[in-house]
Amino acid sequence: LERLYSFMVRLRLPGGFLTAAQWQDLHHIAGKYSTGIIKITTRQTLQLHGILKRHAQPTHKAFNLMKVDSIAACGDVNRNVTATAHPQVSQVHEEVYRYAHHISDMLLPKTKAYYEIFVGDEKVAEKTEDDPLYQERYLPRKFKIGIAIPPLNDVDIFSNDVGLIAIVKDGELAGFNVAAGGGMGATHGNPDTYPRLASMLGYIKKEDADKVIYEIATTQRDFGNREDRKFARLKYTIDKMGVDVFKKEVEARSGVALSDPETYFFSQRTDDYGWHRNHEGKWFYTAFVENGRVLDDEKVQFKTAFLEIAASGKADFRFTCNQNIVLSNVADADKDFVGSILHKYGIIQNTEQSSVVRKGAMACVALNTCGLALAEAQRYMPAFLTKVEALLDRHDLLNEHISIRMTGCPNGCARPYMAEIGLVGTAPGHYNLMIGADVIGQRLNTLFKPNIDEQQILATLDALFLQFKNERNEAEPFGDFVHRKILNQTYA
Ligand code: SF4
Repeated sequence: LERLYSFMVRLRLPGGFLTAAQWQDLHHIAGKYSTGIIKITTRQTLQLHGILKRHAQPTHKAFNLMKVDSIAACGDVNRNVTATAHPQVSQVHEEVYRYAHHISDMLLPKTKAYYEIFVGDEKVAEKTEDDPLYQERYLPRKFKIGIAIPPLNDVDIFSNDVGLIAIVKDGELAGFNVAAGGGMGATHGNPDTYPRLASMLGYIKKEDADKVIYEIATTQRDFGNREDRKFARLKYTIDKMGVDVFKKEVEARSGVALSDPETYFFSQRTDDYGWHRNHEGKWFYTAFVENGRVLDDEKVQFKTAFLEIAASGKADFRFTCNQNIVLSNVADADKDFVGSILHKYGIIQNTEQSSVVRKGAMACVALNTCGLALAEAQRYMPAFLTKVEALLDRHDLLNEHISIRMTGCPNGCARPYMAEIGLVGTAPGHYNLMIGADVIGQRLNTLFKPNIDEQQILATLDALFLQFKNERNEAEPFGDFVHRKILNQTYA
């Protein structure tokens, strides 16, 4: 007898988009082959859990029919390319969305093995395909690319191996500031591993972007550590080479000189919830989906609502790096219809009535699904936040936008090191409490108290909130306050 293996399947959805018809298909595939819950990930795609081995091929075949795939959604390759959500807010958003697709295709492995193994039974190629990028060795480790359109940094641009910041001149996309070497993962007890923000390399025109992105990948392919996977991410390659040497290598390979970065300004990482209009006058509604879990429960019936909307064909489906869903491309005449369904199933109430701290929070999958998890995250986060809300309420801070992120292990899938309050699982019921990142994702937090339980976490936060309330500068965010007042004193 074989063990009852089950799998997670993650889609490749550059820029995070499905049509209404595709959402309907996905809904039924999830119900037929997985736990039924559709998970919006922190990198703007979707994943299904609990797919039994015998259902792996039927699932992929069904994905293929709906014209999506899971190629390079995992592994030592370029992963899902993220881009600032709401791609129809302007022409630039649409261009950036298309460019996310282009990068994803450009860096896709050339092998057809995916189709042989998961989609059809026939061998589709007699010989191994030439793959000038990945050759016969792939990259040393996973590789992540994101594109942000200031002032929104919803993709957490500095957490990426390659972060592209769109520079807009006279209303047109002119080029990108390129940052490289971001990454979240670390290993408990190994101080040589660390989360790192991407280093700014410089500005390039958009027509040079393909070459520079490609050659950053080849430089990592050729210089990355292949002996110890713990040190194989690009961030370690760059720290080993030095930013200047790395940049010169990329310039030499691509033939593109990176100039000084252009001025840019980020003001926000969170999603704009509720109804908004795009540049064509169409409506979109951003719905809060706690931890990205699309399911029906007694409070909110996401799956039923989204299926009804999809069946009507009156909205497209977009996903954000904050694990939320955007119903977009809604005509004036259809807004009331879509709104009535969102209201009928509790989605508008959930979006409007959830606290700002809850709507800005993220948690990874963790127990009982992720094999690397040391502690709970998404299953525990809602109840934990209820306790934090009570503390904030006591200190009249319930309307403060404080980012809180939790992961079940130091791999950092929900980017906890970039939260004003980060909780990183160390053991069942225990977390490293990290504090002091900034609001918009340009400063990492710092370990404040290691390996503490809920009671200790809440007691620590209670004291910090009290001090914050009494001693903050006017309009000073929590992360900046603890960075200035607590961490500087603690570590001075
Ligand atoms: Fe990622 Fe670790 Fe969370 Fe698993 S437990 S999802 S590896 S952060």
